[in-house]
Amino acid sequence: MPAQVPLFINGEFIQSSSQEWLPVLDPATQAVLTEVPLATADEVDVAVAAAKEAFQSWREVPVPERARLMLRYQALLKAHHDELGELLARDTGKTFEDAKGDVWRGIEVVEHAANIPSLLMGETVENVAGGIDSYSLTQPLGVCLGITPFNFPAMLPLWMFPLAIACGNTFVLKPSEQVPLTPMRLAELFAEAGAPEGVLNVVHGSVPQVDQLLAHPDIQAVSFVGSSRVGEIIYRNATAAGKRVQCMMGAKNHMVIMPDADKDGVLNALVGASVGAAGQRCMAISVALFVGEAASWIPELAERVGKARPGAWDDAGAAYGPLISTAARDRVLSLIAKGKEEGATCMLDGSDCVVEGFPDGNWIGPTIFSDVTPDMTIYKEEIFGPVLCCMQADTLEAAIAQINSLEVGNGTSIFTASGGAARKFQHEVAVGNVGINIPIPVPLPFFNFSGWRGSFRGDLHPYGKQAVRFYTETKTITARWRHAEPEAAGSEPNMSI
Ligand code: NAD
Repeated sequence: MPAQVPLFINGEFIQSSSQEWLPVLDPATQAVLTEVPLATADEVDVAVAAAKEAFQSWREVPVPERARLMLRYQALLKAHHDELGELLARDTGKTFEDAKGDVWRGIEVVEHAANIPSLLMGETVENVAGGIDSYSLTQPLGVCLGITPFNFPAMLPLWMFPLAIACGNTFVLKPSEQVPLTPMRLAELFAEAGAPEGVLNVVHGSVPQVDQLLAHPDIQAVSFVGSSRVGEIIYRNATAAGKRVQCMMGAKNHMVIMPDADKDGVLNALVGASVGAAGQRCMAISVALFVGEAASWIPELAERVGKARPGAWDDAGAAYGPLISTAARDRVLSLIAKGKEEGATCMLDGSDCVVEGFPDGNWIGPTIFSDVTPDMTIYKEEIFGPVLCCMQADTLEAAIAQINSLEVGNGTSIFTASGGAARKFQHEVAVGNVGINIPIPVPLPFFNFSGWRGSFRGDLHPYGKQAVRFYTETKTITARWRHAEPEAAGSEPNMSI
């Protein structure tokens, strides 16, 4: 682990000359793992300039060559899967298996990016008028920017730069300053896979660095993943600066439990989906919405969730790790207190969680509230901790209306034995990622990650075919090539519009 995290600019790992550095802390012990710089304005400019320069040659690299880079990168990521998992686990506090899952979901996007030749295919119509053909080209945009949060430091950068780069763009990544180590290792392996200098650049920082990048005239497109508060700011600022933007933001994901569902399956699924990764997933289930008699399962749910024990990353028996920072823990603790104050029933309280051997970790034990109502703070806010709110609805209709009344619409799921109920749910729910007897329905990379409404700003979602459209511009050609013999009279098209 380096004492100080470098920047990655134009193929080189360089020491920042910044005077401002932040400690990166082990969330289980508060030990300083490393320090991360807040890059200077000059360094940010140099990174963008390197990406701009590299674009001139990278856009000319044949598409199959770009695909081969992704194949080599995929192989390297797989070869280093355990090592990346350990680094990520140390950086975030996630359990080793969970950390490896984070890396794996990223590897799958790299595999998708290796299919870039067929993904880039445009459209062709022959004879749009006599002797005239039309066809479209998909061309890269230039320099693209990625801004990522702390909670998936491998998967989320890999949602962005492999596809952008496979499309022929170059990239500047600004990872979360809370977890810079994994993204740097991803960059190292990308260079080792043969990525030319300047194609990927990584700068570190926080608000001023992001503001500078968003205003930079040489950045064409911005992909952001993070909280709704920040995403709204980024969407406003980046679109005002004329950029193409996609912002994937906060969530409040409900699982609807029908009385005909397999009870055992539901309760088991809810344990991992609610407190797994300490609830720090944008697709975590934070509300269990029991329909009708299913509500009688809540006490048993509390019993099972209560068995999930937090622990250090290498504790094989731990269900999840610490929260990312003391600030995050204090925020979740204050929300738990607010839940009690506002009248929810706290059936399982993880506020005073102690993990032996780790007195300074950001621990919160599994926590369950029942009798939660829509006006309560614990319902209105994204808690982002191991806290599950249980609610009840009389009918499926009422459950769907409840979900659709929220501002956000990232993920949701229904557990039922009824195809009719599942069909009604998938058709009527206004949420983009829907699970049927699947608790956390994150789509594989050949689909899109499809957050809706307040969970997303923009038009084109990450990965799948839409990301290729996001990272390219369409050029439509209308072409007439005359054969040596003159064409028949009257075949002239009207090209005046
Ligand atoms: P965050 O919004 O605090 O930070 C995200 C990034 O934005 C970081 O790189 C940070 O440095 C930068 N940033 C922070 N404040 C900024 C500002 N004022 N101006 C410009 N940049 C700023 O998010 P976080 O706490 O790291 O991550 C957790 C959030 O991410 C949760 O809300 C979660 O739901 C969301 N998330 C969403 C998805 C999704 O796909 N919808 C996926 C993962 C995480």
